[in-house]
Amino acid sequence: MSTASTAAPSRIQSDLFINGEFVKAEGGATAPTHNPHDNSVITEVASAGKADVDKAVTAATEAFPKWAALSAAERGRYLLRLADLIEERGHELATLESLDTGHPMRDTTRLDVPRAAMTFRYFGGMADKFEGAVIPVEQGFLNYTLRQPVGVVGQIVPWNFPLMFTSWKMGPALAAGNTLVLKPAALTPLSSLRIAELMAEVGIPKGVVNILPGPGSSIGQYMAEHPGIAKISFTGSTDVGRRIVQASAGNLKRVGLELGGKGANIVFADANLPAAIGGSAFAIFHNQGQACIAGSRLILHESIADEFLEKFITLARSIRIGNPLDPATEMGPLTSLGHRDKVLGYCEIAAEQGGKILTGGKPPQDRPDLANGYYVQPTVVQARPQDRVSCEEVFGPFVVVSTFKTDEEALQIANGVEYGLGGGLWTTNLARAHKFAGAIKSGMVWINCYKRVNAASPFGGVGSSGYGREMGFEAMHQYTEVKSVWVNVDANIPPYYPR
Ligand code: NAP
Ligand code: MG
Repeated sequence: MSTASTAAPSRIQSDLFINGEFVKAEGGATAPTHNPHDNSVITEVASAGKADVDKAVTAATEAFPKWAALSAAERGRYLLRLADLIEERGHELATLESLDTGHPMRDTTRLDVPRAAMTFRYFGGMADKFEGAVIPVEQGFLNYTLRQPVGVVGQIVPWNFPLMFTSWKMGPALAAGNTLVLKPAALTPLSSLRIAELMAEVGIPKGVVNILPGPGSSIGQYMAEHPGIAKISFTGSTDVGRRIVQASAGNLKRVGLELGGKGANIVFADANLPAAIGGSAFAIFHNQGQACIAGSRLILHESIADEFLEKFITLARSIRIGNPLDPATEMGPLTSLGHRDKVLGYCEIAAEQGGKILTGGKPPQDRPDLANGYYVQPTVVQARPQDRVSCEEVFGPFVVVSTFKTDEEALQIANGVEYGLGGGLWTTNLARAHKFAGAIKSGMVWINCYKRVNAASPFGGVGSSGYGREMGFEAMHQYTEVKSVWVNVDANIPPYYPR
């Protein structure tokens, strides 16, 4: 272990944020949030109920007209100030995120915090650059479009990247003039509540942002049904996504769904192998594989498979597992005990269907310092494309390997699952790269890289990975209604009922 401090932040916000104030839940319910490194309770967090959702929706509804009427540049300035503040408080935010999720400090510092700041800055700058259009219609008419906010939006965030996803959801919604109620996952509420504090510090008008930790099956479901919420943006599992679509029918809510994935990561014989090996390890082991866009299916050309696997497994075994607050740690624990057990359960499922665990498949051995944490070794499994472990989302440091002979076979394997979020390929053949980019069934494709994300680049999937896109102009479209306005400038309209 390095000598750097692994101390928790001294003060942690644990109340709901409603109408600009931090308050207890009605009825006083709380729920513990745990440190996945040692299973200790970090703190008790207020746990919202339906009455709190109603209060938050009322606050957001009342705040909406004024917020929507602010100049777009003014709205953007709040987000730009927030981005600066996130950078200023970067170390503290990174520590909180690592403590609550198990995500290593070196990643929360280098990736999550800068990306959250980037996202708020991008959408802060976007606010006054997002325009309607003038449509070339018939002579004598002016036709133009207005982009108007949808109203109060409900946002439901999972536990794997809570800080980053809070920024992805809030940035475009606020820039477009909506007010919001955001529910972080009960497992990882702390960084979203810290963002609420920073929102208050930049002076966001009360009611514009409301943040309610609480159980998804009750208040998440209630938000999806709520007649006062005009749109739900959801990131999480495909099963809950389906439930949200059903619950949203009452008021025909707009729904955006970022769901699960089973990313294909294809390595061709002509690939730059060292780059492909390192990139493929990042694709699956970053954040312990708890990423919807993880490259969880490694599809190798048979001619390079042995060499690739030997080096890939050596790399996987060398990954430094440990306390996420230690800056030397490269891989932390999974975020919850239940999830750790689910991931280990997939090792048994693999074996039952004849799969072979090439490395890992267990908690770290001979590491008493990690014995109470939710740790799993980097795991590489050989299995057939039709096996359960090759089709179902494991969401852990668990990669399934298969081999192919021809390009057609590689594409067939890649497209052989119900998910279609992200996928990647490693090749030096330009024509093949573009051909596959077009043919892979997914919302995102990475060529000679993996898991690149940027606030400006559309993010989302197809099939069971959901619909709608976050980030970029696409996100602004999804947080606005387009209105078409017709003006008779000097049209000579012949009478329809000539008399
Ligand atoms: P989950 O059970 O779907 O939870 C996600 C969020 O939904 C949590 O805030 C949860 O609340 C809430 N929720 C649970 N039941 C609900 C309901 N009936 N109505 C409304 N909200 C409800 O997913 P998870 O197991 O926590 O997260 C892992 C999954 O999310 C994986 O499948 C992963 O692929 C997917 N994911 C997708 C993306 C993407 O961008 N496409 C990103 C990250 C994760 P509580 O947990 O607080 O009860
Ligand atoms: Mg926690």
